[in-house]
Amino acid sequence: MDHASKTNALNLDNFWMPFTANRQFKATPRLLAQADGMYYTDVDGNKVLDGTAGLWCCNAGHGRKKIAQAVERQLTTMDFAPTFQMGHPIAFDFATKLAEHAPGGAAAKLDRVFFTGSGSESVDTALKIAIAYQRSIGQGTRTRFIGREKGYHGVGFGGISVGGLVNNRRVFPQIPADHMRHTLDIERNAFSKGLPAHGIELADDLERLVGLHGAETIAAVIVEPMSGSAGVILPPKGYLEKLRATATKHGILLIFDEVITGFGRLGMPFGTDYFGVVPDLVTTAKGITNGTIPMGAVFASRTIYDGLMAGPENAIELFHGYTYSGHPVACAAGLATMEIYEEEGLLTRAAGLAGEWEEALHSLKGLPHVIDIRNLGLVGAVELASREGAVGARAYDVFVDCFQKGLLVRVTGDTIALSPPLIIEKEQIGTIVSMLGDALKRAA
Ligand code: PMP
Repeated sequence: MDHASKTNALNLDNFWMPFTANRQFKATPRLLAQADGMYYTDVDGNKVLDGTAGLWCCNAGHGRKKIAQAVERQLTTMDFAPTFQMGHPIAFDFATKLAEHAPGGAAAKLDRVFFTGSGSESVDTALKIAIAYQRSIGQGTRTRFIGREKGYHGVGFGGISVGGLVNNRRVFPQIPADHMRHTLDIERNAFSKGLPAHGIELADDLERLVGLHGAETIAAVIVEPMSGSAGVILPPKGYLEKLRATATKHGILLIFDEVITGFGRLGMPFGTDYFGVVPDLVTTAKGITNGTIPMGAVFASRTIYDGLMAGPENAIELFHGYTYSGHPVACAAGLATMEIYEEEGLLTRAAGLAGEWEEALHSLKGLPHVIDIRNLGLVGAVELASREGAVGARAYDVFVDCFQKGLLVRVTGDTIALSPPLIIEKEQIGTIVSMLGDALKRAA
């Protein structure tokens, strides 16, 4: 069957696709059928090099047998069990395993783990924990949150409220939140390798918002230590340290959303480790199960956990949880994933490749329309000048062209984002960059 007949045989009517221009997609579908190692295979049998680890999830690459076997074993042993007033060993085992790698290491004591089913759920959970904790220590007036312009924290009502992607917010009502300024500042930072030198003053916005609302109204500030979905925006040197200091000064909790930076993306287990700045709560998902079974987790500090445990012993300390919190099959997938990460050194492997990655990416400087290149760990971004009147159109064309030639990249606005599986070999770094370079030349 050729491509047209294969896709024509498929009914595209019923699946309402997320974050997709459905009508445009369904007119010219791109369909993946298999995945193994660093590659997808599309429905026509063409190999597609995975430049994005799926959606920043498949850090150990695709088709990992160990995970498949663990999932099958768990499904046939016990498919589901509730974790409300009940438990099962594998959820405790997985939390214990995660605690061994908890953000910030043992000293940070961020090792109390609340399971969720996704990044969005992790964010809403962290926001609720923040409010509940503040209340438990007599700070019940602290119900407001501070996020950032261009922040992405998933799609729950909490997440869109603290998030700063206009398209995420425009249609829906929100909970009280304010946003710190957060700009890319290409003028000052273009083509800086690693962390940008300029922009630490952006952190002063937290002090400004405290002045505006009063510290006693603010529960927490949430940021991605390195933001991904808004186009890979790296924190300027010293910026996160400054946020931490201001938050501490005013009794405001600091939440790091590590849904994409967690599990080795920057060359350390977490962004918290990479930046050496310790928040009070850390949200995760994606890489926690290598993308295989939906799951997320919030790491909370012992101070927060102990604070909430101080009430009456027969009361539910946090009136919150999901049917799938600590789902046994997800925990099995997660444990197998962590074993792979440990055995293959994947939580730190990106550190050894980051230099090569940086050099390869920056070789694209000078190609048509490229106005900035950014990199950190195994994350990359190539920023293109917008086509007049059509933000994102040029990058979208490059994305489609790359896919047709066998490379999966991600587009957000006019940024082409890269985040390959952490098992990537040096030659594949070269392949990704040369394929992208060719597409950029064709786009000219
Ligand atoms: N936070 C961040 C930083 C993310 O990048 C994402 C997803 N890309 C989310 C939250 C939401 O995760 P999910 O799509 O699993 O709900």
